[in-house]
Amino acid sequence: MQARSDTGQTKDRYKRWMPQPIQSAVERNRALEEAEVIVAGVFMSDDGPQAATKDERVRQALRSAAATGYRGALGEVLILADEDSSPHLIAFTGLGTSDKVNHNVVCSAAAAAIKKLPRASAIASVLHDSFDGDPSPAVEGYSLGSYRFTRYKSDKSKDVERRILHVEADPDAVDPAVARSAAVWLARDLINEPASVLTPAALGDRARQAAASSGLSCQVYDEKWLREQGFGGVMATASGSSLPPRFIHLTYEPSGKPTSRIALVGKGVTFDSGGLSLKPAASMELMKTDMAGAAVVIAVMSALSHFEATARVDAYIPCAENMTGGSAMRPGDVIVHYGGRTTEVTNTDAEGRLILADALAWASETAPDALVDVATLTGSMTVALGKKASGLFSSSDDLRTEILDAAGSAGERVWPFPLYDDYLSELDSDIADAKNSGARWGGAIIAAVYLKQFVGAEIPWAHLDIAGTGRSERDYLEISRGGTGTPVRTLLSWVLGR
Ligand code: MN
Ligand code: MN
Repeated sequence: MQARSDTGQTKDRYKRWMPQPIQSAVERNRALEEAEVIVAGVFMSDDGPQAATKDERVRQALRSAAATGYRGALGEVLILADEDSSPHLIAFTGLGTSDKVNHNVVCSAAAAAIKKLPRASAIASVLHDSFDGDPSPAVEGYSLGSYRFTRYKSDKSKDVERRILHVEADPDAVDPAVARSAAVWLARDLINEPASVLTPAALGDRARQAAASSGLSCQVYDEKWLREQGFGGVMATASGSSLPPRFIHLTYEPSGKPTSRIALVGKGVTFDSGGLSLKPAASMELMKTDMAGAAVVIAVMSALSHFEATARVDAYIPCAENMTGGSAMRPGDVIVHYGGRTTEVTNTDAEGRLILADALAWASETAPDALVDVATLTGSMTVALGKKASGLFSSSDDLRTEILDAAGSAGERVWPFPLYDDYLSELDSDIADAKNSGARWGGAIIAAVYLKQFVGAEIPWAHLDIAGTGRSERDYLEISRGGTGTPVRTLLSWVLGR
C-alpha cells in the first residue's frame, strides 16, 4: 500500500494498519489543520459532563453544550459544529465516571465515536488526554470501530480511508494497538466470508497466507492424511459434504528458548447445516460463523511475531463442512477418534465436539504446558451468558485465573463455568464410550466434560465456548455487526503473559 499522495513528503509519518485503510500520525498543528473533526473524551459526574482534556477549545464547546442533556455515559457521543474554528466539528465521546476509566474504556469510547463519524477521513484526537496520555487505547478503538466488510458490496463509495492524528502524543506508542486490532480485523474478515468461498481448503489457504506474512510455519493436511491418521471425528463430520476436510497446523517459534509451550485448538466448521439432524432454516442462516474459533486462533497466531512472544505456540485447526449428502454420518453411527476413543453419534448437529475430540487428542500427544480450545460449541452457552460474554471451562485453577485476568486486561467478557465430571453420565452409550448428545440441561457443561475425555490427564486445559460471542447482531462500542473477533485480544494477552 502507498501512502496517500496528499500527505506527500511525509509519507512515513503515518502508521499503517496492515489490512485496512487507516493511518495514524502525531503532530499537533498539522492535526488541527488537516482534520475534519476533533474527538475528545468526556467524564460523567454529579456536576455535569467534564471534558477529559486540557484543550481549552474543547472545554468551552462542552460548556456551551450544557443544554443538550449530554451526560458523558460510556458510548454516548455528541457531535457539535463550530464554523469559526478548525476543525469545524467536535465529537464528544463519553467515558463514564472518571474513577472507572482504563485502557478498555478509552478503546470503547474511541470506537463509539468513530462509528458516529462514518464519512470522516481525517480525525484529530485528544482522547489520550483521558487516560495517562497513551494514544494506543484510542487507536485500538478507532481501528476496531472502523471495521466494515465490503468485499461483496458493489458500491465502494462508503469505504473511507481514514487518518487519525493524535494531538501531542508519542507516535510509536500506537504500534501494539495497531497489531492487536489488525489481528481482530483478520478474524472478522475470515468469519464474515461466505461458506461457499471459505471452504475447508480455502481456510487452509488463508492460514498459509497469514503464516507467510507473520513468520509462522504452516502445514495443511488433506483428507487422505486425516483418514490415515485416524481422525474419525473430522472424517465423519465432513462425510456429507462434497468439500474435503483439512487439518491446519501453525507453529510460532520464539527466537530464544521458549518460556512456555502452548497449544491452541480452534473449531473450523466452515458451514454447519446440522447434518441429517438438520437445523431449521432460521438457525442455519448464520452458520458460516461456526469457524469463528478457527478464525480467532489464526488471528492470534498472526500477531505473535509482532509482539515477540516468548512462548512456543502450536495451533491445531480441524476444518470440515457439516452437510447432508448421501454419504453423511447418520444418527446411530459410531466414530473411532484419533487415539482410539469412540463416540456414538446421536445428533449429527453436535459435530463440533467430534472434530475437536480428534484435535485435542492429537495436541495432547505433544504434552504442552497449556492447551486451550476455542469453539462456537453450544446454544446452551448462549442461553446461559447471552451474546456478550464467552464461557470458560478449565481443568486447572491456575490456567482459569490466567485467562480470566487476560480477559480483564483485554476488555473482553469471559465467565467461568464448572467441569462436573459426573455430568458425563448424561452421555452414557450402550455401544460406545460416549454419545455425542444427551440431556438438554447444562448442555455447555456436558459438552466441555465430553471434550475433557480427549485431553491428556496431566495437561492444564481450558475450553472457551464462544457460541454467543463469535457473531454480533448489533454494532456497539468496539464490536461490529457480524463476526466479532472475540476473544482474540484475550488470548493474545494470555499468550504474551506466558
Ligand atoms: Mn452443529
Ligand atoms: Mn457447529
